[in-house]
Amino acid sequence: MFENEPLQEATIDCPYCGAQFSALIDYSAGESNYIEDCAVCCQPIEFYLRAQHDGELQLSVLREDEIY
Ligand SMILES: [Zn+2]
Repeated sequence: MFENEPLQEATIDCPYCGAQFSALIDYSAGESNYIEDCAVCCQPIEFYLRAQHDGELQLSVLREDEIY
């Protein structure tokens, strides 16, 4: 397993129902996106990890139908 903890807990707002919950974000993969269902309304939330110019990963959450 990993020596360093690549999973970090982040508090996100569901883009569908607005519920706040915490999710484990895997920052070890670099830029990535994946779908996780909301714990409250069970709709598929798209998690988007994008690197900023300083190299830090920024998390955003989107509705699935916002993706093009
Ligand atoms: Zn929800």
